[in-house]
Amino acid sequence: MGNHTVDAALPESGDLSNGAPTSAARSAPPRRLPLLNRETEAFWTGGSEGRLMICRCEACGRYLHPPLPRCPPCGGQTAPSPVSGKGRVASFTINVQAWTPGLQVPFVFAAVELVEQAELYVFTNIIDCPAREVRIGMSVEVAFEPHGDVWLPLFRPQGQADAG
Ligand SMILES: [Zn+2]
Repeated sequence: MGNHTVDAALPESGDLSNGAPTSAARSAPPRRLPLLNRETEAFWTGGSEGRLMICRCEACGRYLHPPLPRCPPCGGQTAPSPVSGKGRVASFTINVQAWTPGLQVPFVFAAVELVEQAELYVFTNIIDCPAREVRIGMSVEVAFEPHGDVWLPLFRPQGQADAG
């Protein structure tokens, strides 16, 4: 074999992070956070103003969640629109395994049907309520949990906070 080695400028570190050019590389939160894009940003950040923002068709008024740039039924343009933040538990599962460190178990993963429209579901966690007391049809309201720029829309039983 040769005496000379090519002085290749390979990095020494075994750092496997790929340096993806996203903005989400701050301290790791205990929950997995969503990626934001133009359609979803309002939903995930509206909590900073205390508002649950749901994509709505400007032509026919239909709410769309997850957000879409166009309304499938009518083709109209959509825009985020504030809703009441109230709904009811349409279905739920109780999870007893912590997916990520810091996640308290058991926790309740639920489809909450918003009062604004039939079958308008937000997939979320039910908080401030023992898992065994969650019921189908239970009235819930949004409660935001901030993680940096993202305000996770979680839901809790209605009437737990001061009635506003
Ligand atoms: Zn429409």
